[in-house]
Amino acid sequence: MYDSNPTLQGIRKKVIDEEKQGEVFFKETNGKGDKHFYIESYGCQMNFSDSEIVASILSGMGFLPTRDLESADLILINTCSVREKAEETVRKRLRIFDQVKRKRPGTLVGVLGCMAERLKHKFIEQEKLVDLVVGPDAYRDLPTLLAGAEDGEKGVNVLLSREETYADISPLRLDDNGITAFISIMRGCDNMCSFCVVPFTRGRERSRDCFSIIAEAKELFERGYREVTLLGQNVDSYKWTNPENDTVVNFAQLLEMVAQVDPGLRVRFSTSHPKDITDEVLYTIARHENICKYIHLPVQSGNSRVLALMNRTYNREWYMNRVEAIYRIIPECAISADIITGFCTETEEEHQDTLSMIEWANYSMSYMFFYSERPGTMAARKLKDDIPMEVKKRRLQEIVQLQNQVSFRHNQADIGKCFKVLIEGDSKKSELEFKGRNTQNKMIVFPKESGYKPGDYVWVKVTDATSATLIGEIEKTHSPDA
Ligand code: SAM
Ligand code: SF4
Repeated sequence: MYDSNPTLQGIRKKVIDEEKQGEVFFKETNGKGDKHFYIESYGCQMNFSDSEIVASILSGMGFLPTRDLESADLILINTCSVREKAEETVRKRLRIFDQVKRKRPGTLVGVLGCMAERLKHKFIEQEKLVDLVVGPDAYRDLPTLLAGAEDGEKGVNVLLSREETYADISPLRLDDNGITAFISIMRGCDNMCSFCVVPFTRGRERSRDCFSIIAEAKELFERGYREVTLLGQNVDSYKWTNPENDTVVNFAQLLEMVAQVDPGLRVRFSTSHPKDITDEVLYTIARHENICKYIHLPVQSGNSRVLALMNRTYNREWYMNRVEAIYRIIPECAISADIITGFCTETEEEHQDTLSMIEWANYSMSYMFFYSERPGTMAARKLKDDIPMEVKKRRLQEIVQLQNQVSFRHNQADIGKCFKVLIEGDSKKSELEFKGRNTQNKMIVFPKESGYKPGDYVWVKVTDATSATLIGEIEKTHSPDA
């Protein structure tokens, strides 16, 4: 599937969306320029958001985006290191890019993002596949690195920064329906989950100037966008100190400020960390109609011993307490999770604890993975990856099956209810249908009716549901106050 150019069809916003992996970022522009860049992105939303920063820097240099690999002067791949599979995919793609390069000498190939630091020597020296290797904090250096590469030098900058937030760079919105957009509010991560490579590849946590975030949200709203998703590895630890008066802005306060940009602008955020999500955040969500009632709260495992080995710094009871607080303070809230199965030494009973958590927490959906050992992480150094692959796969299968049932039930319970839906565009299957999401982040498809267009809010009555999608029809008589 990665050997052809994926299209922009069927975009859904997820933390890690398998459908989006390898998506080619592209936007029609009226800009003038004779050089073209092609960019393919892998991994989490943060990476997709970074590709928009890179695109903005390149467009400042006169590059235009293209989705045609073979006509590009610069081919970029924004990489992910979170699981081994993602890395393998990138290697395969680099071989394809190399063939293009041979046919069209002068084409430059660059590796961006999380794989840059770890594999810079391999890419440049051993495999000779790439001209540029640029880490996630070094995108401002692209003009210099590119100039060097055009003169035949290999350009490498993988330095991580304690300050870089790209606050002043207005991203070139490539993943563009003109309705929903991502805003990075912080970078890096200071947690040390033992399985995770992110703190090594993306560096220390830093929060972006809140005024630049609000300005970006306002500008998007003025341009017709109706939803922003605030992105960070752990949004609950957002903390920005105003250098002028030393006042500190926390995540709850930031959420409130973004929600106040306009009642017509929906606000989402991802990812919340169970150890850090506060009641103050939950009350802020409850107070504002336009802050969506949906929290992505990765559990990783339902068992306290495994959570301790994962260094998640919470246990099963703590997690359950947070879920209870969410449902108490925001009763209509939907919760989703990330789950890793087959972590080092996980027993069958401990696996059962993860299954029971899925039922108990009543997740609307989950992103589910089997454990993939990553070089350099605490788990790789200290723990044995001792669960056989067939056991990991079987446990994952059980988790996926149960989550599908729980999601189906969750969605079936919505039949007969009316939701306010932000129309995002045509449904994947038919031009006669719209798709949009409700506050709980559930995708709803419904027949088009005249007078409605993408970017409009519309009340939709749910008439049917699968485990992934709600099906409905526009409810013109619905009174939101009824
Ligand atoms: N910062 C977010 C958090 O703490 O929940 C998640 C960031 S990570 C990019 C996304 C998800 O990938 C994690 O929540 C975890 O479930 C999964 N993941 C990370 N490292 C993994 C590994 N070594 N093997 C399998 N899954 C992994
Ligand atoms: Fe990785 Fe944990 Fe940081 Fe998430 S919170 S990015 S899982 S170290």
